[in-house]
Amino acid sequence: MYHDDLHQAAEFAHAAVASMTRFSIPPTPINFTIWYEYHAGRDPALSRAIDGLLASRTPFTPDTTLQLYEEFLNPARMLRASRETTEKLQEAMDELRVFVGAAEVDTRTYGDKLEDFSDRLDDHGNGPAFGSLVGAMLQETRAMQQRNQSLEDRLAETTAEVQQLREHFEQARREALSDSLTGLANRKNFEQTLTLFAKAAVDNNEPLSLMLLDIDHFKLFNDRHGHQTGDTVLQLVARTLSDNVKGQDLAARYGGEEFALLLPRTRADQAIRLGDNIRTLIAARKLVKRNSGDELGRITISAGVAEYRSGEALSAFVQRADGALYGAKRAGRNRVVAATEAAAATLSETVLPS
Ligand code: GH3
Ligand code: MG
Ligand code: MG
Repeated sequence: MYHDDLHQAAEFAHAAVASMTRFSIPPTPINFTIWYEYHAGRDPALSRAIDGLLASRTPFTPDTTLQLYEEFLNPARMLRASRETTEKLQEAMDELRVFVGAAEVDTRTYGDKLEDFSDRLDDHGNGPAFGSLVGAMLQETRAMQQRNQSLEDRLAETTAEVQQLREHFEQARREALSDSLTGLANRKNFEQTLTLFAKAAVDNNEPLSLMLLDIDHFKLFNDRHGHQTGDTVLQLVARTLSDNVKGQDLAARYGGEEFALLLPRTRADQAIRLGDNIRTLIAARKLVKRNSGDELGRITISAGVAEYRSGEALSAFVQRADGALYGAKRAGRNRVVAATEAAAATLSETVLPS
């Protein structure tokens, strides 16, 4: 990622440390990366974001920093890949433009030649030069045909290249937005989709529900059966989620053993019913180790549901669902709980410090 020479890198590093000192920001690796990037000035969007924070005197709390990192540095690879792809596409388009330009000139030249032949035919009538004129015309036409053919070949090649680039790009995009273990949407995807869905819910005056699900006593399961078996359980839960939601819904891996469902056009009571179905399906499943046939018992999940309130901050929305999830844990696990205003208020205090 970094190709700066020693002198330049040292300059950016000094500037980064100076800025962190000036704003009393602890020089952790993430902070350093952010400020190094800021002083390197390669990402105008990051610079704008930081300048905005500085201008509004927003403190650089660990949360702010993490957000900056997530937004500008973590997906940097994807952005760069997309930028490279765009450049390659641009090159291909330029090449196409050159082809088309050449074809135009060719056709014009050919047209001029034909006109010239036609004039000369008029002059010579059926005279002795007639045969050689026709011969020359034929030759010119064949040459034109050949040029057209090679042009077509190059066009087909370029089109195939563009197609391939598009596929690469799609693949990279898919990978950047999905969780590699479960294939569900990843956290980044979840955050982006939440923003879109919330906006759509407000615009269309439709309900939007969020369910956060967490596997019960999963640490214990891992301790007993091993992390790898634990991973298989995560895949099983993920599959149960994606099998039980509709096309418009988004199932995401929210964190380690936490999942999220975004349910557009769904009220809280409907979401709770869905959550209960999923919960029952998972609890009913007898887990058996694939290679040994050993019984692993059962697992259960707890879930919290919140329905979006128009105008509510998205973080508050997520926090309400999280509060409800915490309520489900406290009430004994293996259950789905809806966020209520009172619960959200009291629970968030207890939940946050952990
Ligand atoms: P609770 O019912 O309160 O949720 O208890 P818990 O043990 O599930 O909760 P806790 O948050 O204490 O532990 C979560 C555990 O989930 C810790 C870790 O062992 C496990 N875990 C998190 N991510 C992964 C993962 O990617 N793979 C596996 N196998 N386990 C994971
Ligand atoms: Mg957890
Ligand atoms: Mg858990």
